[in-house]
Amino acid sequence: MKKIAFFDTKSYDRESFDRLNSNYTIIYFEDRLTVDTAVLAKDCDAVCAFVNDVINTEVIDALSGYGVKLLLMRCAGYNNVDLKAAQGKLTVVRVPAYSPYAVAEHAMALLLTLNRKIHKAYLRTRDHNFTLGGLTGFDLHGKTAGIIGTGKIGQAFISLCKGFGMNVIAYDPYPNEQAAGEKGYEYASLDRIFSESDIISLHCPLTSQTRYIINDESMEKMKNGVYIINTSRGKLIDSAALLRALREKRVGAAGLDVYEEEAELFFEDRSGDIIDDETLSLLISMPNVLVTSHQAFLTKEALEKIAQVTLENADAFFGGASLENQVTL
Ligand code: NAD
Repeated sequence: MKKIAFFDTKSYDRESFDRLNSNYTIIYFEDRLTVDTAVLAKDCDAVCAFVNDVINTEVIDALSGYGVKLLLMRCAGYNNVDLKAAQGKLTVVRVPAYSPYAVAEHAMALLLTLNRKIHKAYLRTRDHNFTLGGLTGFDLHGKTAGIIGTGKIGQAFISLCKGFGMNVIAYDPYPNEQAAGEKGYEYASLDRIFSESDIISLHCPLTSQTRYIINDESMEKMKNGVYIINTSRGKLIDSAALLRALREKRVGAAGLDVYEEEAELFFEDRSGDIIDDETLSLLISMPNVLVTSHQAFLTKEALEKIAQVTLENADAFFGGASLENQVTL
């Protein structure tokens, strides 16, 4: 049986993989994949990795030296993989779509929670404080949502926004005019997204073009009180700039499922630690900021699909079939 070294394992990953796997010996490691842990994959045929694993030149060279041929990303994003370094050494496959609804619905949950102050109301009523002061929200109906990235998740989020009666404008270098016509949204320049949106939601991948797409300059152009939702990748937002804009009350609220320095923190219990990240600590301390730890994907349906497609990707590779989910430069 081919062996797969599975990094950054959590109980919820294991459950779905164990249920669906019959063709492989899977060795589960709790550690993230880094240059120090790559050795755990010695004599394995494949490595299964996730969003915060480090898959740079050193790690790729080490894995390749240990005989690993295949990198199974059990996620959609692959910005943490050095594809150039992988060329000729490791075949990289991913799960391009497991449940766009899971992520879009979480983005909407962040928006609704922040707007209607559900996070504060929950704590108040638990303490038998039934007052309403400070809990005023606004109708989403009639507000403008600016969507950056209109792929699978962006489309699912647009449908939710339209369901709430919002106007939607969107930016994507590859516009989907057919969807725009069918759903009733309009493509616009990034400047228009920044200046006209009441809510901005990020659904583009992290690339050299999108890194820090939300920065001091872009936030200067935004409406006062804009809500920013990020369920894509942390580095889309310059967090220090976001903190400044929140402090100056230019940004009304931020819902962050991802954070640019999340790798050492997210998915782990750090409740007993002093967090050595002032920006994150200050963001978390704000009543109008909601941070969730990269959980937008976490639905039963998504976990099932991730395990199923990852195992199918392995079957295709080891069975010599064509790789529809291969990622190349
Ligand atoms: P997708 O490939 O279907 O869509 C991405 C869209 O972004 C495409 O339409 C593409 O043209 C567009 N795009 C590319 N460059 C752009 C740019 N410079 N500006 C604006 N748009 C640009 O991907 P998807 O499945 O919709 O996923 C989107 C992102 O969501 C992923 O890249 C990933 O980072 C993130 N994600 C997060 C979670 C989570 O749990 N938080 C889970 C899955 C995916």
